[in-house]
Amino acid sequence: MAHFQDLAPCSYMRLWEQSSLAVGWLEKGNAYPRGAVDEKFFRALLRLCAKPWQPPVVSAGVHLCSLCQFAGRLAGSSYGGASGAIGTENVFIPGETKVFVAPAMIVHYIDAHEYVPPREFQEAVLKCPEMRSMPYFKALKDLGFPLSGY
Ligand SMILES: [Zn+2]
Repeated sequence: MAHFQDLAPCSYMRLWEQSSLAVGWLEKGNAYPRGAVDEKFFRALLRLCAKPWQPPVVSAGVHLCSLCQFAGRLAGSSYGGASGAIGTENVFIPGETKVFVAPAMIVHYIDAHEYVPPREFQEAVLKCPEMRSMPYFKALKDLGFPLSGY
């Protein structure tokens, strides 16, 4: 899996570079902020990660957790009846000026490895419209994120 600093342009796909910021692309050997997050934020993120919208024809491959020693490497997370974070998907969250691109594995990083994502990302998650809803796509489009052309 690729590694990006939090809030660096997400150049995973060249099409995204201008309009996106990376969040949660953790890789073993790189330090990351640790601590506690608000449960409300975690639940909201889990819900968004359950069936995240994916741009067409984007297969980023399987994300394995390099922070886990053994069993969790492919694991998803479930909590309070919601589950998500299959290691093959990414989640796109419209922010104030750019779209945050995070691997769905971010849920696992928070739950199992105490990762604390940037505050602006947490705020964007709490404000994010329902996945695949009209307001969701409008928000991505307004930020210049390519919805087609892949
Ligand atoms: Zn892990």
